[in-house]
Amino acid sequence: MPRPEISFEFFPPKNIEATFRLWDTVNVLAPLSPRFVSVTYGAGGTTRDLTRDVVATLTKHSGLRTAAHLTCVEATKDETLEIARGFKAAGVRDIVALRGDPPKGAAGFTQHPGGFANSVELIEALSAEGNFDIRVGAYPDKHPEAADAQADIDWLKRKLDAGASEAITQFFFETETFLRFRDACVKAGIDKPIVPGIFPVENWKGARRFAEGCGTKIPAWVCDAFEKAGRDGRSDLLATALCTEMCSDLIDEGVDKLHFYTLNRPELTRDVCHAIGATPEARLEKVA
Ligand code: FAD
Repeated sequence: MPRPEISFEFFPPKNIEATFRLWDTVNVLAPLSPRFVSVTYGAGGTTRDLTRDVVATLTKHSGLRTAAHLTCVEATKDETLEIARGFKAAGVRDIVALRGDPPKGAAGFTQHPGGFANSVELIEALSAEGNFDIRVGAYPDKHPEAADAQADIDWLKRKLDAGASEAITQFFFETETFLRFRDACVKAGIDKPIVPGIFPVENWKGARRFAEGCGTKIPAWVCDAFEKAGRDGRSDLLATALCTEMCSDLIDEGVDKLHFYTLNRPELTRDVCHAIGATPEARLEKVA
């Protein structure tokens, strides 16, 4: 099996304990030589400063190529671009550009007065700034706000044409979901990489909540399997097996890049990576 290129998503920690957990996660996963790691931007723009501090620290101290997520929420265009310039000043050239989700409790996305109306406007502005490698989100199960699957893919094409270099998908539970989506993207004229987002589920209740929030469909058999494994205390085993099988099937179908949603918990992601051949690279200086 060819070794896929891998990347990892982290979120910014909000307290000291969480900071140590993030650093532990980085230490466990960094030896797998990820293509890049990315750091989320809290819903409603809530972790703006933390995201900046974490990407700056990771860039400086971990040696990992680090991407900052950036959204259009709750900020003017100038404020958003100032944040992007701050990333650049910290040596961060990779941005995951998103429209973003609204603050908790809000019904839907509302354009901030003076802010970007949508992700395409943000991508165009970041492209005009120059020197950013821009990635965007994509939705194999369809974004809940899209009129239909085709409209969602047409919009994704507009995001990529506006200056993004690749798309990372929302998580999904069945390989076929991604493969159908990838075929539809190719049919729509998309020729940039669509990287599957992989979610090794550590907490089934939380995963169900995420899935409901972002429109990821949960097949009945997955639900049954996790409910049963939970009762038997074997959820981790199930999650690792399902995720490994899905990654392996994706690789068989020609997928050469995988992006893991780690939720700052490294164990399951590490185990799946090892199982698909993404193991620590031996360093000559360590074995000599
Ligand atoms: P878009 O793709 O711009 O819009 C979402 C959908 O709505 C589109 O797929 C399209 O079908 C439709 N749409 C929107 N505007 C138009 C329009 N003008 N015309 C036609 N159709 C339109 N959220 C955060 O808050 N912080 C994060 O760090 C974060 N990281 C993420 C990382 C990844 C890889 C993914 C996939 C999602 C992430 N999200 C994050 C969630 C994301 O912000 C939400 O899914 C949000 O609702 C949509 O953002 P987007 O940029 O993908 O939106």
